[in-house]
Amino acid sequence: MSKSKIKINVRPFNLKLEYPFGISRGSMDSAKNVLITITYGDVTAYGESAPSSYYGESQDSVINFIQSFLKYKSPEEYVTNIQKLKDDLNNFSSSLNPLGLSYAAKVGLEIAFWDLIGKINNRSLYQYLFYEDPFVVLNDDYENIPQTSFTVGLDNLLVIEEKVQKAIKAGHRILKIKLGKGEEADINILETVHKATKNLNCILRVDANGGWNLETTKKMLDILPKYKVELLEQPLPKGQAYLLSEIYNSSPIPIFVDEDCMVGNDIESVLGKVHGINIKLMKAGSVIEAVNMIKLARGYNLKVMLGCMIESSCSISAAAHLAPMADYVDLDGHLLLANDPFSGLMFVNNKVIPSLEPGLGVQMSDN
Ligand SMILES: [Mg+2]
Repeated sequence: MSKSKIKINVRPFNLKLEYPFGISRGSMDSAKNVLITITYGDVTAYGESAPSSYYGESQDSVINFIQSFLKYKSPEEYVTNIQKLKDDLNNFSSSLNPLGLSYAAKVGLEIAFWDLIGKINNRSLYQYLFYEDPFVVLNDDYENIPQTSFTVGLDNLLVIEEKVQKAIKAGHRILKIKLGKGEEADINILETVHKATKNLNCILRVDANGGWNLETTKKMLDILPKYKVELLEQPLPKGQAYLLSEIYNSSPIPIFVDEDCMVGNDIESVLGKVHGINIKLMKAGSVIEAVNMIKLARGYNLKVMLGCMIESSCSISAAAHLAPMADYVDLDGHLLLANDPFSGLMFVNNKVIPSLEPGLGVQMSDN
C-alpha cells in the first residue's frame, strides 16, 4: 500500500471575543472551534469548524468525528472529487449513533478540501461556483454583494450603547440586534439602539433566537417598524415555526428562520410560514449543500440570508465566496473577535470580500 501523500491535522482552535457574546439562550466569551490543516506536497490548506452545543456539538465531538472518518479513508480521491467527500461524510454521519450532530465537523473538513483543491488548481472557491465573476469591481464597489450586518449581542444597556457607538465608528450601518429577553427588556434595548443611531442612516434587524412566544411576537411586530427594523429572525423556539402561518400574510416586516432551517430538507417545512431563511455553512454541513439550499430557496421565492457562527476569517471566507448569491449578508463572526488568526478577507464599504487568491484566499498569520 502506498503511503498517503495527504496529511490532515485536526486541533482545538480557541478564539477570544472582544465582548462576551450574549443571545437569548446564554452568553460566551470565547469560541471553542476546530482548525483542520491539510498538507499535500508544498501546499497547506485550512478549514474550520465552529461547533454549537445547541446542535449537540463540541470541540471534542468535532475532532473525534473527523479523526474517525479519516481512519478508513484514503483522502487522495477527494482532491479530484469533492462531491464524493460530501457523500462519504453524510454516509459516515448517518451510520453513527446520533448522540450529537456533526454538521460543523463535516463542513470544516469540506472547507479545508475546497482550500486545497483551489490552491492546487490555482482557482478561488468562487470560481467553482460562478460562471461570471461577481467580484468584479465597478465604481469602487462590489455591486452584487450585499453589505454585512454587524451583531450587537445582549448585554446591559450601557454596554449595548457602547457597542453600538463602536460599531458606528467602525462604519457599520446595518446592525443586527439580539433580543428575546422579554417584551419590556427588549423594548428598552430597541430604545437604546434607536437613540444611538437615529441621526444616521442605519438599518436595524432583530434576532430573537427563539426567545418569544406567539403573543409576544405579535406585539413586537406592531412595535418593530417604529424603530425602523427591516426584518425579524427566529422569534419562536425551534420547532414552532408552524405557528407563524397565522401571521405570515399580515406581518409588516419579513420574518426569517435560522434555528428552524439547517439543511435543504428543512426548507419545505417552513413554506407559507416565513419569508426567508438564514443559511449558515456550520448548519448546512457542507458548502455544496449551502449552495443547493440557496437555489432551492430561490425556487420557492424565499429570501436568503447568509449567516455565520463565531468563526475566524478562515471559514467566514468560505461563506464570503457565496455572498453574491444572498439577499442579506450577516458575516460578522470574525469582526467580533479580539484577535483573528487569519488574514486576507477584506472589508470594503461594509462588504465582506474574499481576497480572490486561490482557494479560500486566507493566510494564517497568528496562533
Ligand atoms: Mg440567528
